[in-house]
Amino acid sequence: MKIQDIQAIQSLLATPKKIAIIPHRNPDGDAMGSTLGLYHFLRKNNHEATVISPNEFPDFLAWLPGTETVQIFEKDKENCTKILAEADIVFTLDFNAFHRVGEMEKVLEVLETTYIMIDHHQKPDDYAAYMYSETSIGSTCEMIYNFISFLDQKDQIDKTIGTCIYTGILTDSGSFRFPNTTGNTHRIVAELIDLGVANTEIPNLLFDNSSYNRLQLLGKALQNLKVLPEHKTSYITLTQEELNTFNYVKGDTEGIVNYGLSIKGIQFTAIFIENKDEKIIKISFRSQGGFDVNEFARAHFNGGGHRNAAGGKSEVAMEETINKFENLVKNLTL
Ligand code: 5GP
Ligand code: MN
Repeated sequence: MKIQDIQAIQSLLATPKKIAIIPHRNPDGDAMGSTLGLYHFLRKNNHEATVISPNEFPDFLAWLPGTETVQIFEKDKENCTKILAEADIVFTLDFNAFHRVGEMEKVLEVLETTYIMIDHHQKPDDYAAYMYSETSIGSTCEMIYNFISFLDQKDQIDKTIGTCIYTGILTDSGSFRFPNTTGNTHRIVAELIDLGVANTEIPNLLFDNSSYNRLQLLGKALQNLKVLPEHKTSYITLTQEELNTFNYVKGDTEGIVNYGLSIKGIQFTAIFIENKDEKIIKISFRSQGGFDVNEFARAHFNGGGHRNAAGGKSEVAMEETINKFENLVKNLTL
């Protein structure tokens, strides 16, 4: 971050402020971990902070400290709009373009406030007065740790803040496996463990909390896995009907996409999940090595993300979406 920006933020935060903190829609571990980590830090510094999530967060994150205070925009637009209107500062975390918050976009677009963006996605929009945007860092949570350090308040990081930060570092790094996991990542984690963060229990809470239905759905997804070996590509589909069969709840499909990369020789994979309510097919892309799925998602599926993990959507039916995908893949050199 620029030194002038850090100083400006330090003086902004020198007196108690009303602050809203926003993750992207369909928040994941990094989005919830970073917003709640920052929330606890700001509260500790006497600010009136509120996390406003565009929509519900998944159940597997409900144990994070502070989730009971999170306001859900799509459930209580009136109250959330009021909090936003009164906010001196609005932090947007783990996203960098207003369209990532769904309906809430309309409110954010016209808000007269001081926006601070902390994010690790490519190509940030320029709505923020202060921006800490760094695509080489594996998680927004790691950036929250850095941000608090830049403010010269690292000593404020306690077990509660650390628990939130650790969660996003863990989930966004694929449990420390993705390429942007660095020595710094591990040094931060080491410090968090020294603060008492339950580093071996948290993976348990996050990943060993499945329902029977979720595992059955995973079984269905793996049956649906299709491999295009000559293109080093695989993909999974899940229709709304299949989701309904296994009483799908939010979060149940988290992580399933990664199975597509676990086949020997596969470098590119995707999962296509039908959402009849939103009339879209939500897509996640993952790659191993040089293939840039962020570019692919941007160019063909109205999305974006990172080089090895991105998402997008399709507004045509599953079959048509898959045809489009297969045709694109046949022209790729992986
Ligand atoms: P996931 O596939 O786990 O939902 O997302 C992978 C990465 O891509 C995350 O960093 C996420 O924020 C980003 N991403 C997912 N969907 C979209 C999308 O529709 N648009 C953009 N710009 N990024 C997305
Ligand atoms: Mn993230």
